[in-house]
Amino acid sequence: MSGHTDMVLVDENGMRIDGRTATEHRPIKIEAGVLKNADGSAYVEIGKNKVLAAVYGPRECHPRHLQDPTKAIVQCKYNMQAFSVSDRKRPGTDRRSIEISKITAEALENVVLTELYPRASIDVYIEILQANAGTRCAGLTAASVALADAGIPMRDIVPAIAAGKAVGQVLLDLNKEEDNYGQADVPIAIVPSTDEIVLLQMDGNMTREEFDRAIGMAMNACHEVYDLQKDALKRRYSANKTEEAEADE
Ligand code: UDP
Repeated sequence: MSGHTDMVLVDENGMRIDGRTATEHRPIKIEAGVLKNADGSAYVEIGKNKVLAAVYGPRECHPRHLQDPTKAIVQCKYNMQAFSVSDRKRPGTDRRSIEISKITAEALENVVLTELYPRASIDVYIEILQANAGTRCAGLTAASVALADAGIPMRDIVPAIAAGKAVGQVLLDLNKEEDNYGQADVPIAIVPSTDEIVLLQMDGNMTREEFDRAIGMAMNACHEVYDLQKDALKRRYSANKTEEAEADE
C-alpha cells in the first residue's frame, strides 16, 4: 500500500486495469464439497485468487487445555502456499497468517452454534493456492461454505469482500495492483440475515465519508457473494441426492 505508481489504475472513463467499474467485483466461482476426505470443503475463485477450504469436526479438541466445557471452539489455519505468489513466499506460519487465522475463526464463531458441542473443536483449514489480493475474504467465504457442507449447524453463512481506495477513488474488491499502490483496503464480512459485521479491518487511510461509501459498497457485494454461496450449496445438495438415488437403484 505505497500510494504511488505510474500505472493508470483508473482511466478517464472510470475503467480499472482489469476492465471493471468502481463498484464491480471480480468474477467469482464457488464450488462446495470438492474434497472426499474432509467433513466439508469448498473451492473459491475471486478473480485470480484460488482458495481451498476444508473442515473437520466437531471432534475432540486438541490441545486439550483449549477445551471449553460450555461450547465448541473454532480453530482456523490460514496458509499461503509458497507457489501462490510470483515472488516465492517463505513457507510456513508467519505473523500475517496467525492474524488472518484468528480473525477468520472469530468471524465464524459468530454464526456456528458452538453451544451444541461442548469440549469439541471445529477445525477449518484454508489453503491459498493463488493470491492476487483479497485472500482473507476469499478464504472466509470458502470456509463458511465448507462448514455448511460439513453439516455444522449455523445461524447463517458468512460472505466476505473488501472495498478500498486507490487514486483517490473508492473501489470495490481491490486487485493486487490496486492493493499495492492504493491508499486503503477495508475487508469486511457480514451475517447477511441481520447485516451484522463480523470482520472489519482497515489498512491505510480514508475520510469518514469514503469509509461509509466503502462499507456500503462492500455490504451490497457481500449479499451477491452470499447468493453464490447458497447456489454452490444447492448444487452440492442436488448432486448428493442424485448420487443417493443412483446408489438405491
Ligand atoms: N502477498 C504476497 N506475499 C505475502 C503476502 C501477501 O505476495 O507474503 C500479496 C498477495 O497477493 C495478497 C496481497 O499481497 O493477496 C495482499 O495481502 P494482504 O496482506 O493485504 O491480504 P489479502 O488482501 O490477501 O487478504
